Amino acid sequence: MSNAYDVIIIGSGPGGYVTAIRSAQLGLKTAIVEREHLGGICLNWGCIPTKALLRSAEILDHANHAKSFGLTLEGKMTADVKDVVARSRGVSARLNGGVAFLMKKNKIDVIWGEAKLTKPNEIVVGKMTKPVVEPQNPVPKGVLGEGTYTAKHIIVATGARPRALPGIEPDGKLIWTYFEAMKPDFMPKSLVVMGSGAIGIEFASFYRSMGVDVTVVEVMPQIMPVEDAEISAMARKQLEKRGLKIITDAKVSKVEKGANSITAHVETKDGKVQQITADRLISAVGVQGNIENLGLEALGVKTDRGCIVIDGYGKTNVPGLYAIGDVAGPPMLAHKAEHEGVICVEKIAGVPGVHPMDKAKIPGCTYCNPQVASVGLTEAKAKAEGRDIRVGRYSFGANGKAIALGEDQGMIKVIFDKKSGELIGAHMVGAEVTELIQGFVVAMNLETTEEELMHTIFPHPTLSEMMKEAVLDAYGKVLNA
Ligand SMILES: Cc1cc2nc3c(=O)[nH]c(=O)nc-3n(C[C@H](O)[C@H](O)[C@H](O)COP(=O)(O)OP(=O)(O)OC[C@H]3O[C@@H](n4cnc5c(N)ncnc54)[C@H](O)[C@@H]3O)c2cc1C
Repeated sequence: MSNAYDVIIIGSGPGGYVTAIRSAQLGLKTAIVEREHLGGICLNWGCIPTKALLRSAEILDHANHAKSFGLTLEGKMTADVKDVVARSRGVSARLNGGVAFLMKKNKIDVIWGEAKLTKPNEIVVGKMTKPVVEPQNPVPKGVLGEGTYTAKHIIVATGARPRALPGIEPDGKLIWTYFEAMKPDFMPKSLVVMGSGAIGIEFASFYRSMGVDVTVVEVMPQIMPVEDAEISAMARKQLEKRGLKIITDAKVSKVEKGANSITAHVETKDGKVQQITADRLISAVGVQGNIENLGLEALGVKTDRGCIVIDGYGKTNVPGLYAIGDVAGPPMLAHKAEHEGVICVEKIAGVPGVHPMDKAKIPGCTYCNPQVASVGLTEAKAKAEGRDIRVGRYSFGANGKAIALGEDQGMIKVIFDKKSGELIGAHMVGAEVTELIQGFVVAMNLETTEEELMHTIFPHPTLSEMMKEAVLDAYGKVLNA
């Protein structure tokens, strides 16, 4: 078999493997290199296994409220950590096998091992690295491995790894990253979660549902700092109602390790320090791009704050070399990685009319209880940009379906440009909002105005009706409130 390709992709996360499929569809001879596991972080240690854990948590939460639905549960529903984790790992393994199937189906060569760029159009593949925690599935037999490979175009999709704060480095035992938090071998009684971005809050929410005493420490004034302040405040209130302890405007300045516990020194803005002792600490202070040991420096590839610098089509400053996904910078989300990869390879193949990446229209979802979802500008950002805006809000408490579901806490907020009527931001907190947000993403992508949304018919009874009511509210025409 020839070692020369049209496209080689380094890394098989959602960015890499989707790019490989699109590349093969476009008739390009394609190979993908992976050092650990097909599907990358997303399928094996990120998006998917967390959602499986959170589903167990959701069922447990519902069961604990069975009485309010007229249902009686004989005895108490309890969680078996081993089985909850086993289900989550099983879901990952199934999807990981699915990626292997897709590679085969699309005639994409899988090259197992760690890739290093030797020239802009050449890589050397070494041994597979030790899987971070475990391989999901055995390495398929008969696939390519160590050696030198060339391609007209090489796309770096090597993803990211947990960021560590100096002095509070994860040790895998007392200080966890998402790897250990995803696969605990026991259920801690208490936890400190450092950082309240999507990853931190999702784990905090999961462990709280499992009955753990959880304290979240966030250095910014609000949890989920990228979200709209009003939505974040509402989510906080509901999380606190569920027993989560949240300390904002505070940092973990030091962690003392005991034999089987940690003591976190939590310093608030006013300089006061409180000590919180817990079984474990989850470090969720962000991720950093995997740019090391790739040969980037020798080729003069531009990087910035741990990520490869690209244009709107994934091109680096070195001809023939591209980057997509987490390694190419924020937002570090699977759907951004996939879309960026498709744009990149379509541009390479000369597909007409390829649009550059528009980061303003990438939705963000957090699958905690309550869920949070958003797209576009927050109210504060829109104001900071000097925009004249109209804001509409609608509460879950006024929606028939939400009340019937027993999910009457939440809000949908929309932001319009006053002059043009363009929808420039949508923000949600409450049940199923991670599914609802896509309606507004489509609308924004089509540069929809308030009028078009008002003329759109939403099915009744659904949670989606709140989206229309929020739009109506922005224009003083709300009906059911
Ligand atoms: C706990 C958690 C929950 C998350 N939840 C969500 C969510 O709900 N929604 C969402 O959109 N995003 C979520 N994310 C983020 C999401 O996982 C990432 O944005 C996504 O995986 C990025 O995809 P990628 O293809 O860029 O890289 P990755 O998925 O990181 O894949 C990169 C791959 O490259 C391989 N690799 C690296 N270097 C080399 C090399 N030199 N040679 C060969 N192979 C190499 C790695 O082994 C890896 O498999 C979550 C992340 C975490 C940690």
